[in-house]
Amino acid sequence: MPLSPTTSTTVTPSDPAPPPRSYDGTSPFPPDGPVPARDGGEWLYVTVTAVIVILPFVALGLAGWLLWGSLIHPADIVLALVLYTITGLGVTVGFHRGLTHGGYRAVRPVRIALAVAGSLSVQGDVIGWVATHRRHHAFTDQPGDPHSPYRYGTHLRGQLRGLVHAHVGWLFRNERTPAERYAPDLLADRDIRAVSRAFPALCVLTLALPFGAGWAIGGTWRYGVTALLWAGFVRIALLHHVTWSVNSLCHMIGERPFRTRRHDRATNLWPLALLSFGESWHNLHHADPTSARHGVDRGQLDPSAAVIRLLERLGWVHDVRWPTADRVAARRV
Ligand SMILES: [Zn+2]
Ligand SMILES: [Zn+2]
Repeated sequence: MPLSPTTSTTVTPSDPAPPPRSYDGTSPFPPDGPVPARDGGEWLYVTVTAVIVILPFVALGLAGWLLWGSLIHPADIVLALVLYTITGLGVTVGFHRGLTHGGYRAVRPVRIALAVAGSLSVQGDVIGWVATHRRHHAFTDQPGDPHSPYRYGTHLRGQLRGLVHAHVGWLFRNERTPAERYAPDLLADRDIRAVSRAFPALCVLTLALPFGAGWAIGGTWRYGVTALLWAGFVRIALLHHVTWSVNSLCHMIGERPFRTRRHDRATNLWPLALLSFGESWHNLHHADPTSARHGVDRGQLDPSAAVIRLLERLGWVHDVRWPTADRVAARRV
């Protein structure tokens, strides 16, 4: 099938204007209004979130115990690396730089493939992910931000509480981001809607794949089980925490060489650059959200940008918003 440019639009969020709530940059955020009920009930939402967050750690403990009995195989590690890379790039290149921020436009099969790859990371369905992240940019580090580490103020205790909230605590708050408001472009996209609906099945697939591959490579079901642990649960848990670290650590520690909007404290944090595929150059990202490259300075590893460049050379993505020297210089502090 010939590759043809997609007709659907990838728009930058229309940045809904924050409500006129005053915020001085240091106080705890005011309490939220009443939260609308979620379909299926609160307990179901909290239970599913708890399973997603806790189960990988139970698996990690189990994996360690199995390792003690020498039940880890080279194939498990290779499978884990491959799946970490595919699902990680699905999130960074697909969900984030492409679908959320419109840093490039992709031909239809690539757009769908990236949305599927990102969904295999078990970070929520693609439309919900994008809506939440656009809200984070609309209200960064001020009331309305779904995961700001400054939620409880800037004194030490508030900061520690805020760090836990920004890393994982926010997932447990029943604070739905309306996709109708933040991701109408994706709701209007049949392909993306289908990927979004398939999220539960993709969560099963992301575990079935390593199990099946491990079994096929090793020849017995025990190889399937160890592959499921390492390349399934442990791989998912690691990417979860790297992604969440961009939300938490990359708004608290690191360097801020670029100007961002008022109250926005996004940072560049080099130790996470490789594991996060370049997403930890988060200060530049908040200074210029549509830029397809986040690591713009010399020596800043940005594997996601390298993949976008490769896809561009293959003719599979186009209209890439590469940072120009002028644009970068204009944003430098
Ligand atoms: Zn951020
Ligand atoms: Zn972003």
